Amino acid sequence: MTISIVVPFHNEAANIAKLHERLCAVLDAGAESWELVCVNDGSRDDTLARLVALAERDSRVRVIDLSRNFGKEAALTAGLDHARGEAVIPLDADLQDPPEVIPELIAKWREGFEVVNAVRESREGDGPMKRLTAHGFYRVMNRMSHVDIPPDTGDFRLISRPALDALKRLPERRRFMKGLFAWVGFRTATITYRRAPRHAGATTWNYWKLWNLALEGITSFSSVPLRLASYLGFAVSIFAFIYAIVTIFDKLVYGNPVKGYPSLLVAVLFLGGVQLLALGVIGEYLGRLYEESKQRPIYLVRAIWEKSDITKS
Ligand code: UDP
Ligand code: MG
Repeated sequence: MTISIVVPFHNEAANIAKLHERLCAVLDAGAESWELVCVNDGSRDDTLARLVALAERDSRVRVIDLSRNFGKEAALTAGLDHARGEAVIPLDADLQDPPEVIPELIAKWREGFEVVNAVRESREGDGPMKRLTAHGFYRVMNRMSHVDIPPDTGDFRLISRPALDALKRLPERRRFMKGLFAWVGFRTATITYRRAPRHAGATTWNYWKLWNLALEGITSFSSVPLRLASYLGFAVSIFAFIYAIVTIFDKLVYGNPVKGYPSLLVAVLFLGGVQLLALGVIGEYLGRLYEESKQRPIYLVRAIWEKSDITKS
């Protein structure tokens, strides 16, 4: 087995046949043997039935059924854990990552690179708002953390066995895959591709989820927010000190009565706000610590289908 294609599926029934057809067209033209690892991430439509039917027709297809919806990152992790190939290529089920790019990834790998990133050339499918927020995210993220997360690179990439084994050693439960991929390093090449619009179905992402993903990324890879809290405290102290001198000066030199109520209220509210903010930041990290310390598995497998013999686990 040379190439493992890993695909997470969450309510993607309408995309399965097309995805398989295009993968076959591309990969059968190449020389490498391949397998398709499908992870069913708690779909509520007939994704699982169709995947199993596919696995029965095509022995190169394996289906990993998770016990519930664990989220894309966990589903991808499950797929990577079950991949047997010398090189693994994660792919979106909605055909946004065109399979036609795969030979380019393989060619770069054959040149000796251990990781080949696929960077989207343009974000045609995305509106200006999405582009702006994405751009902002990568800037903030890369300034705040030590790992350089390549902009506009999704999960679509080629990971060779050594890099994959390194990735598997990262035990965190809350997995920000883009960051983890970047963290392991290895000799990396980059190719560009055009990201297509979704083939069928609707994305489950919205701005609220993206915002949370961004927070996830930053808290996974940076402790700068914690440090910001102390800087903020320091700045407020300096300001309070200056304000105190000004007030005393005002009273002693000009005899102005001290203006009590408004300034008092502003100071109290401002400090209260800053304190809650700092507590929130600490809480965010504490929450992560709590989740990690529970040591729960990242995903649970309900059943595995392969080579038309149905093995339930
Ligand atoms: N996905 C998943 N679990 C989820 C949500 C999504 O496995 O809870 C899969 C989905 O089936 C698809 C991939 O993740 O293969 C990308 O999802 P989507 O197209 O909705 O995201 P986008 O392309 O908009 O980032
Ligand atoms: Mg998509």
